[in-house]
Amino acid sequence: MADIVLSAVDKIFGSDRVVSNVDLTVENGEFFSLLGPSGCGKTTTLRMIAGLETPTSGDVTIRGQRMNDVPINKRPTNLVFQKMALFPHLDVFENVAFGLRLKRLPGAEIKRKVGDILDVVSLTGFEKRAVSQLSGGQQQRVAIARALVNEPAVLLLDEPLGALDLKLQLHLQRELRRIQKATGTTFIYVTHNQAEALSMSDRLAVMNGGKIEQIGTPAEMYLRPATSFVASFIGRTNLIEARIDNVTSGAAHLSHEGLPLSVPAEELGAGETVMLSLRPERIEIRAPGAEGIDATVTEAEFMGSTVLYRMKTASDRTLIVQTLADRAPLRDGESARIGWAPDAAVQIRQTSVAEDI
Ligand code: ATP
Repeated sequence: MADIVLSAVDKIFGSDRVVSNVDLTVENGEFFSLLGPSGCGKTTTLRMIAGLETPTSGDVTIRGQRMNDVPINKRPTNLVFQKMALFPHLDVFENVAFGLRLKRLPGAEIKRKVGDILDVVSLTGFEKRAVSQLSGGQQQRVAIARALVNEPAVLLLDEPLGALDLKLQLHLQRELRRIQKATGTTFIYVTHNQAEALSMSDRLAVMNGGKIEQIGTPAEMYLRPATSFVASFIGRTNLIEARIDNVTSGAAHLSHEGLPLSVPAEELGAGETVMLSLRPERIEIRAPGAEGIDATVTEAEFMGSTVLYRMKTASDRTLIVQTLADRAPLRDGESARIGWAPDAAVQIRQTSVAEDI
């Protein structure tokens, strides 16, 4: 059964429609992310699921029950924020036990539940430690344990790792994923960090200007972006607008910078203009004189395992090219032969929602 269904949800603040006609289904036990740039309405969407905001119109349903008018404390959800307010005067055990004590559970049961959840978040042995004596990452794990100990059906997380340094973020991303799988809890995770959303989620929704651009698995979103916004927001890409030269046996053929490209034709015909996404890693740097075109490096960014180039072609177009850093990197001003396989690009089928605002 679907854990959460949002249907035609709008949220208007004053005259601003900050969430617009959102339809979303999150399945039981899924790790689902809401991804998008600052101000796109992710947090407001999460807050409507939590009960911190009421939709202006549309419905929020959790486990089959319409929730629009159900107060926050009556919903089977719990929240984790970026800066969790732990109780500084209580130790780790009591911070986690807090909600269970409010429910007046027997002491032995509290001990067992807190012990179990501290084990899940790898904090066994820290029970008596003051929270002020924990690192940022440990504090965040206490916050997550506190949110999970009540066994919510759904855990809502709003940029929970945003305040931590990059190494700790990467570590806790894997931990969160492990915790989510170990508990089977449905997670809805808000982030503006595309790498984080791609690496952690079973599925994600990309939001832009209050609307959903696309929903899918990380691989679907990267390999088959529906809109130009998704193609550029998830990873980097070269957006190409080109006219189809001809169509043969199901393939539409065109060229960019004089090099051939083809995409499945489906409903396309010769003369039509299409939008394509050509990922930087699909462009190859080839030997001088090999089939391809010459381009000049205008910017080289060394990224560790790969190098990212901005290259200018003879017709003054810029292409982003990414190669493994297994050869001496090219320098600014150097030119190289580049090319791509005819099937290197994918077609973008829909207009971005921002473009029709
Ligand atoms: P961020 O990543 O920066 O947190 P977000 O995608 O989570 O952004 P929201 O916090 O949902 O975005 O905000 C969406 C828009 O709604 C923003 O323009 C914000 O200024 C506006 N907004 C949010 N809450 C309110 C409010 N209570 N009253 C008026 N406007 C609001």
